[in-house]
Amino acid sequence: MSRIDFEVIMGHFRSSVVQDAFKKKARETDTPAGRPSEYFGSLVFGLNKLKKYNVGAPLDAAKADIVAREMKEWAMAHGATHVTHWFQPLTGGTAEKHDAFIIPDGSDGVIEQFDGKSLVQQEPDASSFPNGGIRATFEARGYTAWDPSSPVFIQDDTLCIPSVFISYTGEALDYKTPFKKALKALSDAAVPICRLFDPAVNRVNTYLGWEQEYFLVDEDLFAARPDLLLTGRTLMGHSSSKNQQLGDHYFGAIPSRVAAFMKDVETAGYKLGIPLKTRHNEVAPNQFEMAPVYEEANLSNDHNQMIMNVMNRLARKHGFVVLFHEKPFAGINGSGKHNNWSLGTDTGVQLLAPGKDAKGNLQFMTFFVNVLAAVQRHNGLLKASVASAGNAHRLGAQEAPPAIISAFLGQTMTEVMRRLQELPSSTSIEITGKRGRGIGLVEIPEIFVDNTDRNRTSPFAFTGNRFEFRAVGSSANCAGALTVLSAAVAQQLTEFKASVDKAVAGGANLEEAIMDCLKPLISSVLDTVCFDGNGYSEEWKKEAARRGLDTENSIPRMFCQFTSPSSVELFTQTGVYSRKELEARNEVKWETYSKKVLIEARVAGRMAVNHIIPAGVKYQSRLLDNLNLMRQNFPDNWQSLASTQMSLIKECSGLLSDIRGKADELDAARGYAESCENAFEKALAAEKASVILQELRKGIDSLEEITDNDLWPLPKYRELLFIS
Ligand code: ADP
Ligand code: MG
Repeated sequence: MSRIDFEVIMGHFRSSVVQDAFKKKARETDTPAGRPSEYFGSLVFGLNKLKKYNVGAPLDAAKADIVAREMKEWAMAHGATHVTHWFQPLTGGTAEKHDAFIIPDGSDGVIEQFDGKSLVQQEPDASSFPNGGIRATFEARGYTAWDPSSPVFIQDDTLCIPSVFISYTGEALDYKTPFKKALKALSDAAVPICRLFDPAVNRVNTYLGWEQEYFLVDEDLFAARPDLLLTGRTLMGHSSSKNQQLGDHYFGAIPSRVAAFMKDVETAGYKLGIPLKTRHNEVAPNQFEMAPVYEEANLSNDHNQMIMNVMNRLARKHGFVVLFHEKPFAGINGSGKHNNWSLGTDTGVQLLAPGKDAKGNLQFMTFFVNVLAAVQRHNGLLKASVASAGNAHRLGAQEAPPAIISAFLGQTMTEVMRRLQELPSSTSIEITGKRGRGIGLVEIPEIFVDNTDRNRTSPFAFTGNRFEFRAVGSSANCAGALTVLSAAVAQQLTEFKASVDKAVAGGANLEEAIMDCLKPLISSVLDTVCFDGNGYSEEWKKEAARRGLDTENSIPRMFCQFTSPSSVELFTQTGVYSRKELEARNEVKWETYSKKVLIEARVAGRMAVNHIIPAGVKYQSRLLDNLNLMRQNFPDNWQSLASTQMSLIKECSGLLSDIRGKADELDAARGYAESCENAFEKALAAEKASVILQELRKGIDSLEEITDNDLWPLPKYRELLFIS
């Protein structure tokens, strides 16, 4: 008999897995040779190496061949044998299909080859990736094309070429394509405004600094939980007596097993040129965070996708599994991915940081106010951009962020905005040099990255030199949210520029014209989207509805925002999505949502019947055996002596029938959802099933609370959360 069989028969299966997990020691880390500065980027074919080929311009075939050959030689020198176009399909995560460099040489041998054509474009047989009906199956081909703005890198033995993924008819099937379009639209819209202040500006860059939250769970405990294994989150589990009440995990000492894992991730990240900077314990037990130094947004997002892959791989080496799910455990914090977002010119000016002089401040206010106006106008769409089956448990669930998009400005900026609003329009504004500060314009401190001025309940917060979009889910591709934000700001800036031009044409001087155009926007955003109070409060929900902000709570309905007339106008004007792409993507969103929720429903139903009910029945039998013994040994007063046992038996019976009833109800709801043809209807039906799942869970968690600890078949919250 194997040990596992023995433990199962003895009823000690769980406790033995738990003890083994507890005894694990930190594993060896890959000690890198030298300091980070010496091996940083060693597995990256950097953009600098590419500069001489001017790959931004269309590459002719001969040049592409030369670049490909050089890449291949470099990759082989680093042990690579394969190459792949690395892309970001709508399934989430990344996709790769490895091809060996080898080709037969015609005389029994092989040679290694990689040509320009394969570098620039490939045709993966990608018919199984979601496309929302864009590619009928007979036209299943899609192609991937190299994105030379993000550097090529080596992962294990494979040369990875960051790529976009497009259908044969030209529609985007990935996250990267629309993101790059939105970033370009934003630059194109921002440059003419920057030139009002400095004619030398030619490009505006978008920057992203993500903060990745995640949980680590011991891999053996993980494997003993079918829900974690199959859905990435716990679908049941009574909360631990101690969880995050004491706040003692946040910024606490990092457990040695975890520290070893983090070290390995950082070493691998540095080799891949990812400037990982910060690591710390998060609020919930076994929750952690990692953040790099911010970078150009497309590159930074690739780096986020790369490091998530690295983390998944290296966690196993350290006996962990990483959970990127937004809400793996009920009752404690979920995980997000704050997107720190800012704009800067190619002349080195940070557009969302207060300027050095009055002119700089006017430019700052122009961008600051227009970002807020864009967020106001498209608040419902921005919420939709972060909506997902996983994030549903964070949005609106009394946890940052609420299911309402508002912006936090902090005291300083709120006062600045109020002052500006009050200035009579006729005020002529001196904005030359330092003299302008505090005269016509209000005074804005040059730097006020003010850490005390923080509001953790706000989904979109100004933090001194950037906005922090906090509603993004931890498992999300940041591009989903930032494509919408960038497009919205691009549209707003274009309209703003047109209104300034009109005022100038009507005879106003430039600064006055800008102020005149800013003022109505300032009033409008202060009255609607700006909110510094407690985002969790019930009053805010009412107030937000009164202000006309989107308060939709249903995830499938949120997605409808993408095809509303104002969104279609936004995306077609900025060239980010066509209507066809929007419709296709919504199909994919609804499908993905339904699939995830319905898998959860199936897993929870099976666990209820195969794990939970049998455990409850076993416990009941144990109690009944005891009752029999009591009756034999104490024939006169066994009933009073065994009153606890009897009440437990009854309680158990009640819960078992609740659980069975809810499991059947869930099954029926799932069956109905699965029978729906229309993707939207199906998603709505799946959402209904998710409510029943929640009710099923309640019964199961109550049963866990009273059942003999030895008999509980699943690792408990206290074990999943406190062993590392
Ligand atoms: P906190 O948890 O206090 O918000 P972190 O240090 O965890 O801060 O993360 C802050 C992130 O914001 C980092 O990725 C940092 O590089 C990034 N960041 C800082 N300044 C900017 C900026 N101007 N634009 C974009 N991101 C920025
Ligand atoms: Mg942080």
